[in-house]
Amino acid sequence: MRRARLLIDTGALRHNLGVARAAAGRRSIFAAVKADGYGHGLLTAARAFSKAQTDGLAVATPGEGIALREAGLSERILVLQGALTAEELEAAAERSLELVFHDMAQLDLLERHAASLPPERLRAWIKVDTGMHREGLAPEQVPSVRERLSASPAVGGTIGLMTHFARADEPDGSATEQQIQTFAAVAGDWSGETSMCNSAALLGTSAAGGDWVRPGIMLYGGNPFIFGEAAHHPLQAAMTLKTVLVAVRQVQRGASVGYGGRFVAPETMPVGLASVGYGDGYPRHAPDGTPILVNGQRSQVIGRVSMDLVTVDLRGIHAQVGDEVECWGSGLPIDQVAQAAGTISYELMCQVSGQLRAEAT
Ligand code: PLP
Repeated sequence: MRRARLLIDTGALRHNLGVARAAAGRRSIFAAVKADGYGHGLLTAARAFSKAQTDGLAVATPGEGIALREAGLSERILVLQGALTAEELEAAAERSLELVFHDMAQLDLLERHAASLPPERLRAWIKVDTGMHREGLAPEQVPSVRERLSASPAVGGTIGLMTHFARADEPDGSATEQQIQTFAAVAGDWSGETSMCNSAALLGTSAAGGDWVRPGIMLYGGNPFIFGEAAHHPLQAAMTLKTVLVAVRQVQRGASVGYGGRFVAPETMPVGLASVGYGDGYPRHAPDGTPILVNGQRSQVIGRVSMDLVTVDLRGIHAQVGDEVECWGSGLPIDQVAQAAGTISYELMCQVSGQLRAEAT
């Protein structure tokens, strides 16, 4: 129904999994497909990674894991937020999902309901808070939680231990180093599996080990680092947001363009109207100068982004109605748009897919 189109290149998803595989070495991969596969479509992303032979998939909620099992995916599935209710526990056990225990209430829930769960079907991971202070058990809680999980008739296999980095995307690695040391002290001679790395740590922190890595953004072609480039890692953009020009007009020198008159034409100039806006998930806060491609030529957004339209500077650009406009994708890194708009590629990917149906190729 909308003119803007969201195209997903599944070849790029598979390629990026290969890049993660090379960086992971002997470590196994839980490919993160939470939040609808970072906006690329849960099943589109999961099937692409499965085809590229990921070892496992990581989701946020049991519901996402159930959707993957119902679609026939048989990889190991890690549920990062674990279970909150007896129904979620039961559904997770029936489908052999792996639950992360990051809070004592989840352990209490398991113990209250273990008798009604199928025996030894749940694989359990303990999430230890090594410095992010978002979720996770305190290091001193880990031994007793491990004992209680091992004693549960519902839990099978060995217990995993994981953590998450708060600042692996930053150039100063000292906070990450501290987290690694805290994790090592807890892990000691841990007999089960361990997992630490997101994309930034996988690509940028050689000291972070573990048996499993959990990359997300890099698999979609996003740069995991706040500053600096991931350019030496040959990632490919999997998501392209494109549309067409619906009008080209001359704006007189001194005239202001769009809501609020934010952009004032410094000269009489051609302006294009691209059929995309915040109603499609394009960031409303994109300022003048945000890059955008018209017919493959680099241009810039001028004037405030509207619900269905973006005004584009066409000075020096050959363009006419119907011509292609790329908001981000294979021709224009999403990180450049995100940075201009004061956000991160993760948010752009997720918000655009809430509005447009992704078309996989
Ligand atoms: N592991 C956990 C616990 C996460 O919350 C996330 C994402 O937020 C990831 C892994 C993947 O992170 P990234 O997309 O930065 O690679």
